[in-house]
Amino acid sequence: MHKIPETHPRYKSLKERHKIEEGYKKGITHIQGLIAHGRGEAFDYLIKEKTHRFAKKAIKASAALLLIAKRPIISVNGNSAVLCPNEIKELSKELNCKVEVNLFYRTRERVERIVNYLNKFGINALGKKAKKKIKGLNSKRAIVEEDGIYNADVVLVMLEDGDRTEALKKMHKKVIAIDLNPLSRTSKKANITIVDNITRALPLLVEEIKKLKKFKKNKLIKILKNYKNKEILEEAEREIRKSL
Ligand code: ATP
Ligand code: MG
Repeated sequence: MHKIPETHPRYKSLKERHKIEEGYKKGITHIQGLIAHGRGEAFDYLIKEKTHRFAKKAIKASAALLLIAKRPIISVNGNSAVLCPNEIKELSKELNCKVEVNLFYRTRERVERIVNYLNKFGINALGKKAKKKIKGLNSKRAIVEEDGIYNADVVLVMLEDGDRTEALKKMHKKVIAIDLNPLSRTSKKANITIVDNITRALPLLVEEIKKLKKFKKNKLIKILKNYKNKEILEEAEREIRKSL
């Protein structure tokens, strides 16, 4: 891999680009994933590449929802697999929850490659045996495992498309999205939107879960009751306007 000097002002961003590039060469990240990453970077630049208050509030609500959930699941795609495998592992361990590979550009081979890749990080991901279909969704994102996303009650999605978020909600599931674009359909449709880079948000989410684990259920419910996603998205949008 090309060596980036740690003193480079864009070290972290360049490192992430390289991970995505490597992921592409391994057949894990789709070529379209490079474009999605670029869109994410642009929004990250606008929020000054930091975790803001609006993201922290969403992370807290997400932790509460994931702890209350009976069958939470983490949906993983090619970008999230190469950017955050260790964090996904930590999160699934803390929640004792399942992980499922779900792809827009789905082929049997690519699902297998990603499942095998995650396995190296100690993640036992579902996805290979997906036969069920999410209703009202025409893309390959619809193909899910019965004991995975199909029967989950809370789904954490990253770099998602708005269509599936909407379809999952129609199945009465709660959706938590991590999306740097507060204007995306995904952001608007999700129950909770963490407007932050997945590389910053996931470790914070793990920490928050560890903290809230000690709370009683009614306290978690109260956190959720006080959470208003629309206001969070407006806060994020204001932050972007401020930086222009
Ligand atoms: P929508 O259908 O929700 O309106 P889209 O499907 O057209 O959006 P894509 O470009 O296909 O959007 O998906 C990529 C999304 O993921 C973008 O909104 C982008 O900001 C976001 N994204 C990309 N990389 C990251 C990242 N590292 N962390 C968080 N979000 C990211
Ligand atoms: Mg899309």
